[in-house]
Amino acid sequence: MLAREAFVTLATTDSYCKGAAVVAKSLRRHGTTRSVVVMVTPNVSSEARATLSEVFDHVVLVDLLDSEDYLRLSLLGRPELGVTFTKIHCWTLTQFSKCVFLDADTLVLSNVDVLFDREELSAAPDSGWPDCFNSGVFVFRPSLHTHAQLVQHAARHGSFDGGDQGLLNSFFSSWAVEDLSKHLPFIYNLSASTVYSYLPAFKQFGHNAKIVHFLGASKPWNSSAAGSSQPMGRFVDMWWREYHAQSSSSAGSSSAHEQPD
Ligand code: UDP
Ligand code: MN
Repeated sequence: MLAREAFVTLATTDSYCKGAAVVAKSLRRHGTTRSVVVMVTPNVSSEARATLSEVFDHVVLVDLLDSEDYLRLSLLGRPELGVTFTKIHCWTLTQFSKCVFLDADTLVLSNVDVLFDREELSAAPDSGWPDCFNSGVFVFRPSLHTHAQLVQHAARHGSFDGGDQGLLNSFFSSWAVEDLSKHLPFIYNLSASTVYSYLPAFKQFGHNAKIVHFLGASKPWNSSAAGSSQPMGRFVDMWWREYHAQSSSSAGSSSAHEQPD
């Protein structure tokens, strides 16, 4: 049932599409056997979608306003929850039985298919508040029921941080204490902030990283290759190499051809 499992990412703008493409390319470089899926919103340009279709198995259009009325109502007056709601749309991908969500600002450094051994909701601790999980990498089971519950939860309680991470942590509120098998090792979601908060640990363990997360305001596609002088610079350089690389195996379309940027 391999085909019923997928890695899923999200891009609501053309610049996040650059990150999404790197997610797909880096997953394929390391030989994933699972489907690779990106959700896009209607404002993403047709050029960007065409580029994505060369590296993803499926480009899924999600449109919040096409959803049921309760969703539209809950969004009224809460525009800041828009991207949050778009992310939780991943629960509607019920053609798959289990998925791993990856933020578009992540870079996969080795094969991470072993993540499909985990159950919903598995995620790594957030470096700012480790009793919360970071929502840049998580294992979930698509379900319209869970999706509706998440939407209802958001409509009632909002999100304590205004984003998807606050919403998901208050919904899956037992994560910190209930089941250690749902705690992914930090190397599956190594965030740049670690470099500043615990540099010796980064120096000791950073080379074990399996997924790097460029969390925060500065994204690789907005910064030039940083050079290996900075601790995270090596990963920014790797991100750019992946961005410019030919995809090692093309998805779907037989006419896929890459244009060097
Ligand atoms: N995202 C998007 N468009 C946006 C903001 C976010 O598509 O304008 C998606 C994208 O997949 C991104 C994720 O939502 O990786 C979470 O946002 P971001 O990574 O910027 O948050 P951070 O990890 O820095 O907290
Ligand atoms: Mn992110």
